[in-house]
Amino acid sequence: MAKSKKFLKLAFISLLAVAMLAACGTNAEKTNGGGNEGAKNALETIKKRDKIIFGVKNDTRLFGLKNPSTGEVEGFDIDIAKALAKQILGDESKVEFKEVTSKTRIPLLQKGDIDAIIATMTITEERKKEVDFTDVYFKAGQSLLVKKDSPIKGLKDLKKGTTVLAVKGSTSSQNIREKAPEAKVLEFENYAEAFTALKSGQGDALTTDNAILYGMADEDPSYHIVGGTFTDEPYGIAVRKGEKELLDALNKALKTIKSNGEYDKIYKKWIKKDFSK
Ligand code: GLU
Repeated sequence: MAKSKKFLKLAFISLLAVAMLAACGTNAEKTNGGGNEGAKNALETIKKRDKIIFGVKNDTRLFGLKNPSTGEVEGFDIDIAKALAKQILGDESKVEFKEVTSKTRIPLLQKGDIDAIIATMTITEERKKEVDFTDVYFKAGQSLLVKKDSPIKGLKDLKKGTTVLAVKGSTSSQNIREKAPEAKVLEFENYAEAFTALKSGQGDALTTDNAILYGMADEDPSYHIVGGTFTDEPYGIAVRKGEKELLDALNKALKTIKSNGEYDKIYKKWIKKDFSK
């Protein structure tokens, strides 16, 4: 009797352990479920689901900005993502966009909430330890945005007593500490908040990629970009580490849209200035 009770207890504990292990799968694996059972990698999951889930910015004019009247996100990154979906799945509407910020994009990718990040993301050695990047699809460089009547004309004017606004998790926030060590850096969750803070006088300058700043200056012409660029910010699309099939598919699709003119069309539509030089 005692023996069979012990056995039952043991059996129950093992069952519980198995159930707990099963529940520990990543969201990516969970997304694999629902008809995608057996998918061996992210590309297979995408093909079974017949849709690519991209993490995109929702507050960055020209790259990924939510249009309040339609609820749709619009911009360069969005159109590139659609063009890539057309190459990979045959239809540009086979995409889903989920909002990411500079700080949340890698964690959301690792969790499996998204398949890939296309969100003004610079390829860096540090980030390569966590994710894999496609080839460069856009070239930007870090710069400064100030009010037109500001005495700040460049990095050298970011002296003691000045405050620079930046976004959490961005390369810009890291770089500015090296480039202007005397300035105070105030960080925000996203670019909409940072620009609002600049307008309300919480800082003397806002720093990020020139192409993003250009979108802000375009929105409010009392601001302009100063000091040229002081870093290289090559953008790449990020996927989870080791997702070689998806990475290859994205690189192949990028090559195709660059050679068939689609990339240039999208570039001209959003980026009126050539930032690659
Ligand atoms: N390209 C820079 C970065 O990846 C700045 C833009 C952004 O925050 O997304 O950090």
